[in-house]
Amino acid sequence: MSERFNYEPERETYSAARVKALESLLIEKGIISSDTLDKVLDFFETDFGPFNGAKLVAKAWVDPEFKTRLLADTPGAIAELDFPRGMTGAEGEYMELVENTPTVHNLIVCTLCSCYPWSMLGLPPYWYKDPTFRARAVREPRKVLQEFGLELDESVEIRVWDSSAQIRWFVLPERPAGTENLSESELATLITPEAMMGVAKVEAPAS
Ligand code: FE
Repeated sequence: MSERFNYEPERETYSAARVKALESLLIEKGIISSDTLDKVLDFFETDFGPFNGAKLVAKAWVDPEFKTRLLADTPGAIAELDFPRGMTGAEGEYMELVENTPTVHNLIVCTLCSCYPWSMLGLPPYWYKDPTFRARAVREPRKVLQEFGLELDESVEIRVWDSSAQIRWFVLPERPAGTENLSESELATLITPEAMMGVAKVEAPAS
């Protein structure tokens, strides 16, 4: 088992079973209804998710003036777009975007717990909350990125941003070469949550 994940390989199956058991109990005891759960799930499928961040990044790639505003005042630029509920509240506040360039690569982490820009990236993957990832991302980011399959040239500076309740960081990835003819919405489909966390780059579509 890699050091990155301190959990048993069956962790996801175990978590799913535990969630199911909790859900049944909460419904059985009348604390929540199944409608409540459907609403919450629906919210993360349609309102809060990485598709919002992807929309933002694609717009920044095609509109340099928007990009300037977005980097200078991330929540202000987000408010310009027609996102549901304006994207404030529920971990949507105090977001800041940092830009990857050919010489600087950014990585986000929350060393304290799991602060994350939910409204733009959705819920964080389980490894983001892993104490080992949180410690190692700061201590040896280059090595951690290699384990994610991201090999950066030694000359590229890696900056690690520690999110908290005050600032939730995310990454403006580089636009890949070979995407000059793609539309804004086509570009958005290429942008993954991993790229906006800084553990991957955006890949051009295979031609
Ligand atoms: Fe946190």
